[in-house]
Amino acid sequence: MAENSLYYIGIDVGGTSVKEGLFDEEGNLLGKVSVPTPPLTDEAGFAAVTNGIEQLMAAAQQSMLFVRGIGLAVPCPVPASGLITMAANITIDPTGLKEAIEERCPHATVRYVNDANAAAMGELWRGSAEGHRSMVMVTIGTGLGGGVVLNGDVVDGAFGAGGEIGHIRVNPDETRICGCGLRGCLEQYASATGVVNNYLLECEARGVEPLELTGPSDSLTVFNACRAGDEVARAAIDTMVEYLSRGLQIVSAVVDPEVYVLGGGTSASADLFLEQLCDRYAARAFPASANTPIEVAKLGNDAGIFGAAYVALRSVVREA
Ligand SMILES: [Zn+2]
Repeated sequence: MAENSLYYIGIDVGGTSVKEGLFDEEGNLLGKVSVPTPPLTDEAGFAAVTNGIEQLMAAAQQSMLFVRGIGLAVPCPVPASGLITMAANITIDPTGLKEAIEERCPHATVRYVNDANAAAMGELWRGSAEGHRSMVMVTIGTGLGGGVVLNGDVVDGAFGAGGEIGHIRVNPDETRICGCGLRGCLEQYASATGVVNNYLLECEARGVEPLELTGPSDSLTVFNACRAGDEVARAAIDTMVEYLSRGLQIVSAVVDPEVYVLGGGTSASADLFLEQLCDRYAARAFPASANTPIEVAKLGNDAGIFGAAYVALRSVVREA
């Protein structure tokens, strides 16, 4: 490693752990650390994050002075201004944390990014969308997150709602309320929780006793049942695919990305629905964008640290 290389840190602040990764400018992951998420509101909490950065740089035998950029992926809306005002899922003082990091890494540009947007940037940098200029990532987990990248940069949006694909209204007739307060959101049908709900409704409609599930978002049991030939599970996945194709059709009409990337835990079962999703999407999309490829994400749980680091790097490049 050359002594004057510059380094980037990607930090993924989740509900249970804070993951940190050290990267060079080419996007090679040089080291990783993880700590349980502390309340990020006081000196002890801030130190948990800055100590992780020190640990990574020490392991790489590099001075903290060579940290050029630090990105923080957080599970809340991040407006283009970078000023977080809503953080329902984690306990965080965003300004205090940023200042504590800047104090320890005086040459670093520090940026916040929404976690789903970070995952998209990670897949663009070193994942399934590598080499593309535009892409849209759909992260299918307990909820359904989205990230839109145009011209190499993520679209945060004026109010932090850019890429909130999970809350596109795909069913105006829905009476059940989504977690966001609206009705008929894509997330209600195409997240892991959505697949389970599709399945339970399908069981009810057919008068079938549902399989035993481990929780409200145990879509894996539904996917496994489908794999074993269960018709009710198949129907639940068909419903997911139907709404997901409607969502992507709407996204294409606005953004027209070069590629879609499906991530999150559910993407591990994509072999059960990807071909069908491509067909439904193609049949429904505006003809010019009917053949947009839909790929499965490559980086798994590391997408957030890759993307957070890349957002910081892009910020530094823009400043230069
Ligand atoms: Zn919603």
